[in-house]
Amino acid sequence: MINIEANLNRVRNEIAQAAQVSGRNMTDVELVAVAKTHPAEIVREAIGAGQVVFGESKVQEARAKIQLLPSNLRWHFIGHLQKNKIRHALPLFELIHSVDSLNLAQAIDRIAHEDGLHPRILLEVNVAGEGSKFGFKAATLQAELESLLTLSRLSIEGLMCIPPLAEEAEASRRYFVELRELRDALEKQFQMKLPQLSMGMTNDYSVAVEEGATLVRVGTAIFGERRRRKTDL
Ligand SMILES: *Cc1c(COP(=O)(O)O)cnc(C)c1O
Repeated sequence: MINIEANLNRVRNEIAQAAQVSGRNMTDVELVAVAKTHPAEIVREAIGAGQVVFGESKVQEARAKIQLLPSNLRWHFIGHLQKNKIRHALPLFELIHSVDSLNLAQAIDRIAHEDGLHPRILLEVNVAGEGSKFGFKAATLQAELESLLTLSRLSIEGLMCIPPLAEEAEASRRYFVELRELRDALEKQFQMKLPQLSMGMTNDYSVAVEEGATLVRVGTAIFGERRRRKTDL
């Protein structure tokens, strides 16, 4: 049996420790419990342990789950958002971590306008330039931020990344540093604030907190291993 409360407490403690090591305040780091593939009754155990912020990567799955759960929860979208799901997604999620192209941002802006919404978003950066991953390359983002900033319905609050899979948490550190430095450069260049850095998953969230993460997205360390879905293969 998985003890979700014990897992959550362990993750919270590690976040607090990593924050302390790096002279940060633990309250500046939000733990997003990634509930994808886990049913509502499992999510309820986390709610019982005081968790209110949850991450999902599929709109349909999230919508079904959200209907079954208390309305005070806060849901974050962390997956690749398909254009035909935008209208469904916008009312469900308080933050979209994974806006991965100018084209998608434009589509979200248009639908937000039609539906009278002001979505909060992060821009996903493909930090290692992996062909298999979604996200802006750093240079592309620098070139396209001007256009992104004209999208008046969007509140662009920061950056997100998913570093290459690695056994060692330390392997992610350079990518977290790169994301933070890219953020700092963009803030300077465009005279704007990008306060949120969404980085760190089960294997590397402590390192991410040390390097400035304000949002960590943790699934396995809280809920245990996921059963593989066909769409994840
Ligand atoms: C699944 C997922 C996570 C959580 O991964 P774990 O390794 O289980 O913590 C975090 N971020 C994104 C974008 C994901 O898709």
